[in-house]
Amino acid sequence: MQKHPELPQAFADLGIEVRFLKALQRMEFSKPSDIQAGMIPPAMEGKDILGQARTGTGKTAAFGLPILQKLDPSKRLQALCLAPTRELAVQVAAELDRLSQFANLHIVSVYGGQKVATQLHNLGRKPQFVVGTPGRVMDFIRRRALDISQLKFVVLDEVDRMLDIGFRDDIKMILSHVRSDHQTIFVSATVEDEIRRLAMRYMNDPVELNVSRDKMTVDEVDQSYVTVDPGDKFRLLKLILEQEDPPFAIVFCNTKAAARKLARKLFDVGINAKEIHGDLMQRQRDRVMESFRKHRIRVLVATDLAARGIDVSSVTHIVNYDIPVDPEVYVHRIGRTARMGAKGVAITMVNRDEGNALTSIEMLINREVPQRQVAGFRPRPPAEKRETKTPVEQSAARSSQDSTTQGEPPKKTPRKTLGGAFPVRRKRRL
Ligand code: ADP
Ligand code: MG
Repeated sequence: MQKHPELPQAFADLGIEVRFLKALQRMEFSKPSDIQAGMIPPAMEGKDILGQARTGTGKTAAFGLPILQKLDPSKRLQALCLAPTRELAVQVAAELDRLSQFANLHIVSVYGGQKVATQLHNLGRKPQFVVGTPGRVMDFIRRRALDISQLKFVVLDEVDRMLDIGFRDDIKMILSHVRSDHQTIFVSATVEDEIRRLAMRYMNDPVELNVSRDKMTVDEVDQSYVTVDPGDKFRLLKLILEQEDPPFAIVFCNTKAAARKLARKLFDVGINAKEIHGDLMQRQRDRVMESFRKHRIRVLVATDLAARGIDVSSVTHIVNYDIPVDPEVYVHRIGRTARMGAKGVAITMVNRDEGNALTSIEMLINREVPQRQVAGFRPRPPAEKRETKTPVEQSAARSSQDSTTQGEPPKKTPRKTLGGAFPVRRKRRL
């Protein structure tokens, strides 16, 4: 093969053609990530693939490059990618667009919340690749505006969500419209056994790749927690934002109402913050994401649904204003930072009665999340318990308090466990 010294040779070695290498060079992808190196060759061969790799490791290009390269620019729709949220559909389509900037291909995204007419018009321009959310894709199939009967490539992004109970029937319905022989690629950060079994029904002798095993969390993220009474959270957040001074941060809340309230409070104290959650209209959500990407918003206050899979590469800090109930959600959240090996910080606020949630997270990620001291912030002692403590508890509480001089830098050395299970601390005192 001819060498192009200026183009990313490692991608050329995987069989990527010059028209895509040029785009990769412009996108500053110098070498493939593990999942890309693992997926591209079998995908080029036409194999069905179930690919698992942690968030932020470039799964979009892993399925995107081989498919884009095999599309015929002179023919109409050949590939469909389904994604669980509107933001993800938009983001995947944008990445595919960038990857094919030197190829004569046309990619269209369809999702709820935007005018049907606009998307109908876009579909009329005969894309080779459509990326969409299940609801809107079904809608266009019913309207006969989208004919997926002759697809060559079917992708489910974030397949754990797509085959989860909420979407399962829609996916079944959509995929039943595909009549042609096609290649199926499913990707996700995590795939549980039940989802895997379901996924197998749609695949033909698939190659299974898992480059996330034993690496459940983004290792590059500096993770810590702070103990806080619910009433002190806002004060703590302000201190964190002042001291860490992140250029771009995402603050996660567990509910829409909490996100709305928090964004307003931040705004009121002069912090450039906006909320994103499922109650906003699609247009508003698009606008918020656009502003965040363009760095016009410093703090994005988000709920999980709205933020899942969102890739804003410059996010440096994640704050869990509410600790997630489901430890997997924690992994997804902190995956918003430290994309592609960049450094990131994740700080989790934990109430005194949320110790178990923290322990479940530590068990899932198989490492200890150290406590962080925030200068100027000292949680109030739990007043109601003060009188009833045993002497042992008292001395333990005292010694842990004594060692926490204000202004001390955060403790950073998590006890690494090599392969072994994380030591379970059944009762954790915060
Ligand atoms: P995932 O779907 O695994 O969460 P994405 O496909 O969204 O990850 O990619 C995360 C980010 O990394 C994107 O901004 C993408 O452009 C970038 N990226 C992907 N592959 C590479 C690579 N090989 N080199 C550099 N950046 C990459
Ligand atoms: Mg993705």
